[in-house]
Amino acid sequence: MIALTGARLLDGTGGPPRDGVTVVVEDGRITAVGDAPPPPDAETIDLAGRTLLPGLIDAHVHLSSLDRSLGPALHPYGLVQAARGMLDGGITTVRDLGSFGRSLFDLRDAVARGLVAGPRLILCGQIVAATSPGGRTFPGMYREADGPVEMRKAVREQIRQGADFIKVMSTGALTVVDEDVRPTQMIPEEMDAIVDEAHRLGFTVASHAEGADGIRLSVDAGVDTVEHGEMGHQVPDVLATMAERGIVLVPTLCVFDAVADAGGPFLPWMRERALRLREASRKTMTAALAAGVPMAMGADAGPHGENARELVLMVEAGMSAGEGIVAATSTAARVCGLADEVGTVAVGRRADLLVVDGDPLADVRVLADRERIWLVLQDGKRVAGAR
Ligand SMILES: [Zn+2]
Repeated sequence: MIALTGARLLDGTGGPPRDGVTVVVEDGRITAVGDAPPPPDAETIDLAGRTLLPGLIDAHVHLSSLDRSLGPALHPYGLVQAARGMLDGGITTVRDLGSFGRSLFDLRDAVARGLVAGPRLILCGQIVAATSPGGRTFPGMYREADGPVEMRKAVREQIRQGADFIKVMSTGALTVVDEDVRPTQMIPEEMDAIVDEAHRLGFTVASHAEGADGIRLSVDAGVDTVEHGEMGHQVPDVLATMAERGIVLVPTLCVFDAVADAGGPFLPWMRERALRLREASRKTMTAALAAGVPMAMGADAGPHGENARELVLMVEAGMSAGEGIVAATSTAARVCGLADEVGTVAVGRRADLLVVDGDPLADVRVLADRERIWLVLQDGKRVAGAR
């Protein structure tokens, strides 16, 4: 049994901070949160001057996007290193939005069995997409299908291989040559079939939607999350529907800077496209905040372990630090289907906890600074931090 005492507590719900609270952890779960003195038999860890919050959750990563020079033999070791880096960065759960092969499923199982240290993994397997240039750009990562019947089969295949949710491409992608983000890549009958098949079987749907038509198509079909969503500012009625139905936007602001980086691997025209979409994404953040659309943190392409940089960008784009922390904890947990397990500090939740030096409400960059990450607990066990 561990008692964490004296911290400023941000419980992930967005409520006001509480000072001097004691959080008791037993058998991997939180068993008390309050003002009572720590139980006498508990190992007490004094957190005075520090802030305690839920372990951060990244709702949109591609864990298998590693240095391609690793090749297939070294790829699993690269995954292990990336998983380690995320824990060191205070990330205790991640939702992966597209991988190839079985390596991530194996990693998920290895983490769950304690063979490898890493965040809890929520996986979609392959991305369900129409026949499209992206399938050529990312060989093996897309499950291309056409027509409602094939779409249902593609969904079933992901579930067969162990997916936790379904990812679909409603539009082209910024980083794919020959793809345009404006037209939808699917027709409504195809998108409806995917959402119906997934929901019928108890799985959520995350939709890659950059252009306005794809965002509308996705929301009309009833997806659970809209990924990227740069052109959302052009369709305020769709944002209003998202707010009303609790459909979460994952704005992935990091990705535009990564693609626009002059030293990066992308072509000049693609870098320009990234800059244009970057500007649009900021407009959409403003519009989505005003409309009350729930948002979750998703750093997308990495670098793995520096995911909380996304949180800093979300705050720079207009969120309060408190709203940003909710996006990276309880809302992200809901997106992962883990709202009752992680993402908030409450009795009964798994003890996935983060302790940082300083106060992220005063300066959210604390969460993106490795030097300030003092303790990371996963299921009540210390997995990272300077302590
Ligand atoms: Zn992505």
